[in-house]
Amino acid sequence: SLYLGSEQGLILSRFGQHADVESENGDVIRCNLRRSLNSAVTGDRVVWRKARQPQGGVEGIIDAIADRQSVLLRPDFYDGLKPVAANIDRIVVVSSVLPEFSCNIIDRYLVAAEVTDIPPLLVINKADMLSDAEREVLEEQLAVYERIGYDYLWVSAHTGLGMDALKTLLRQGTSILVGQSGVGKSSMMNSILPELQLSTRDVSSVSGLGQHTTTASRLYHLPDGGQLIDSPGIREFGLWHFNPEQVTAGFIEFRDYLGHCKFRDCKHITDPGCAILQAVADGHISEIRYQSYLKILTSMAEDKPNYL
Ligand code: GDP
Ligand code: ZN
Repeated sequence: SLYLGSEQGLILSRFGQHADVESENGDVIRCNLRRSLNSAVTGDRVVWRKARQPQGGVEGIIDAIADRQSVLLRPDFYDGLKPVAANIDRIVVVSSVLPEFSCNIIDRYLVAAEVTDIPPLLVINKADMLSDAEREVLEEQLAVYERIGYDYLWVSAHTGLGMDALKTLLRQGTSILVGQSGVGKSSMMNSILPELQLSTRDVSSVSGLGQHTTTASRLYHLPDGGQLIDSPGIREFGLWHFNPEQVTAGFIEFRDYLGHCKFRDCKHITDPGCAILQAVADGHISEIRYQSYLKILTSMAEDKPNYL
């Protein structure tokens, strides 16, 4: 045979028909992918074999991908939904006070995390830019998230505030940072992984279009344990491939009320006998979150005429 025996491994990054696989003893082996394994991505656990004779820098072959615990998907013009990273245990939703603090944007990421079935963690960066009074105002808004079960953490990639607490949380499992352009994801990753040094930019130069050159997703081991995946393709992942029912289910505090509406096909917008509208009226569901829900549905409907 051209190959030695089968081994277990972990895909650190994938490019074209190749992937870098980390073996169980920590070596990194560049492998070919079988055609049938075209969906292999960073974070996939694989079965691979070492080639007896490396060829053109390729030292092995991947034979199989293990079942995934989770997968992040990105809509692709040609391929429909494309996996970009697998086996992620935590989505770190990064926001900050600059460019803007927006609960609606946070909610979009939370919905994406919930629908993907990966627990989110809210992190608010650039805490150094706030006075105590400004911080208190934001804490009132963040209390809404605490009440429905989402923890949050203040950090500053610049001063290091909160970064130890974040690193402690990241020791368990595999995490990925997502959030709007300019909130400080690259800066945080550089602080967490000093040898990484991703390029960061001035917020003044943020054009709305991502300026990061698109490179492949990559998995990094953190110095104190845990893994971090950097994935330019998913940093600002959107919601548009979800349907309205998924968006509704992505608002976790709605879940207790779903199924209690008068009409089975209740859209929870104007329908009589809607249990969610009633819960908002009774103060059991936050008005801000409900308005955010409507805003998400409306913006998605604008792109798709028959959405609602
Ligand atoms: P990304 O687009 O989310 O990766 O954001 P970057 O890491 O490129 O950061 C965008 C800008 O915010 C850069 O100018 C950073 O220097 C700045 N920045 C990042 N973290 C902090 C922070 O904790 N405090 C302050 N004041 N600025 C920060
Ligand atoms: Zn309803």
